[in-house]
Amino acid sequence: MWKNLRIALLLLVLAAVAGQQLLERRATQAWKETLWVGIFPLNADGSASAQAYIASLTPADFADIEAFFAREAHRYGLALETPVHIELYPPGPQLPPTLAADAGLIGRAWWTLELRWFAWRHSDFPGHAPARIRIFVLYHDPSTLERVPDSHGLQKGLVGVVHAFADETLAGSNAMVIAHELMHTVGASDKYDLASGLPLYPLGFADPQQEPLYPQAATELMAGRRPLSAAEAQIPPNLSHVIVGPATALEIRWTRP
Ligand SMILES: [Zn+2]
Repeated sequence: MWKNLRIALLLLVLAAVAGQQLLERRATQAWKETLWVGIFPLNADGSASAQAYIASLTPADFADIEAFFAREAHRYGLALETPVHIELYPPGPQLPPTLAADAGLIGRAWWTLELRWFAWRHSDFPGHAPARIRIFVLYHDPSTLERVPDSHGLQKGLVGVVHAFADETLAGSNAMVIAHELMHTVGASDKYDLASGLPLYPLGFADPQQEPLYPQAATELMAGRRPLSAAEAQIPPNLSHVIVGPATALEIRWTRP
């Protein structure tokens, strides 16, 4: 009974937000005006080191992401000077809901609603313009874990959750993950094999025509790694040798079919 009620409620809410999603999608894929993207830093593990790292963040720490979007958009002939503006918001006290590793379809749908609710309640700061796209960046003390949890970017709701290391030397790869999840929110899909993590050929290759094919000189953002050989790929240190491939450009409507 409770399960049925929960599902009915879920379907009702999903139907109600469908119309808004269509409007959001149109607005974020028009590329007529600058997209306002908010970075909301959060202390993932409550550690003093993550706290200190967050306190040290400045807008300059995210300038690479803004420059990356401008560089790649202009390569595809977009006239808009600043397609994406990154705004750093003050750190919040609460963490977003977590997605259970074994969440099914319903569980995942429920989590996306919880996340949207969370984003709605925790992205309003007096003196700051409201962000169109909200990326919650959860900083972890690198000495306490080897790998951060998976990050997510949702087009439905225009919200992302990024897990990052509170470490200046990893700021470049953190920026890469933020850019990747941000791309998901504007409609880009992953271009790597979910089982192996290796870039898909040809869509996940920066230059599918390169000869020899390996190692690839650059990384496709939605593949996330640079193919070194048929069996190896490497996460780039920063966004300087990362590109947006033609398939991704088409998905986010920088180009038209
Ligand atoms: Zn992804």
